[in-house]
Amino acid sequence: KIDEIKPLLPKKMELVSLEDLGCFTEIPETENTLEANALIKASFVKKHYGLDCFADDSGLEVDALGGAPGVYSARYAGEKKSAEKNICKLLSAMKNKERREARFRTVIVLLIQNKKFFFEGIVNGKILSQSRGNRGFGYDPIFQPEGYTKSFGEFPVTLKNKISHRAKAIKKMLDYLYENQ
Ligand code: IMP
Repeated sequence: KIDEIKPLLPKKMELVSLEDLGCFTEIPETENTLEANALIKASFVKKHYGLDCFADDSGLEVDALGGAPGVYSARYAGEKKSAEKNICKLLSAMKNKERREARFRTVIVLLIQNKKFFFEGIVNGKILSQSRGNRGFGYDPIFQPEGYTKSFGEFPVTLKNKISHRAKAIKKMLDYLYENQ
């Protein structure tokens, strides 16, 4: 994530990660929306380090599955996170489905001067019937973004990072910061 976000920031802006703060806690994501999980993470940092900060949460929402795996994307096939098993489970859930529309969605929450702001980034696309490519991570090999003929797993990482849901949410947050801070 840090590698994905850094190139989007202007040179004069420094990104301080949890690692930089010496925070290695796996903050539990116990809520059932992306917004609430992002808020848990940012609130944890604010509480323990006293810093204004932002946090994100993302997921893959598949229309034919009522929005699943959504906020549960990381652990779709079980508590032990496995991208391979998640893909396998999703492909079998989608086996005979004609409707393939899906979207990656990111929500960022920014805690600043005792206020909170939410920013959303979405990439629409469709679920392929089999994996294609081995770049990226998570569900990338089975997701083809709208307007392209390749899966995210076949995208050069730099291009994916430019058009991704996370990039869109980050850009919205930066626009807010430029205009208001
Ligand atoms: P996170 O909130 O960014 O950690 O994302 C939660 C889960 O959603 C990840 O573990 C992946 O399974 C899935 N996911 C989020 N963003 C992407 C992406 O850009 N490509 C593929 N899978 C993603």
